[in-house]
Amino acid sequence: MHHEKKHPVIKRRAFVETKLCVACGCCKKTCPLAAIDIHKGMYAYVNEACVACGLCVSACPASVISLGEVAS
Ligand code: SF4
Ligand code: SF4
Repeated sequence: MHHEKKHPVIKRRAFVETKLCVACGCCKKTCPLAAIDIHKGMYAYVNEACVACGLCVSACPASVISLGEVAS
């Protein structure tokens, strides 16, 4: 029998260094899951649809996206 785990699940996702983001939108165009939006034309924002595939990391010309872990 399979039991649901009660402790936090560690999930990987992309994080944007928002202060250094130039809001070019390359990451948003690259993401296959539409997990990125540009917030008020100022910086990229990654939502929960992200599966940490890393495509946006490679696509960012400013190199301000990295993959990390988030507890959910
Ligand atoms: S890591 Fe992949 S799924 Fe996540 S935001 Fe970047 S391109 Fe989208
Ligand atoms: S590709 Fe990089 S600089 Fe461009 S919007 Fe995305 S995070 Fe910002």
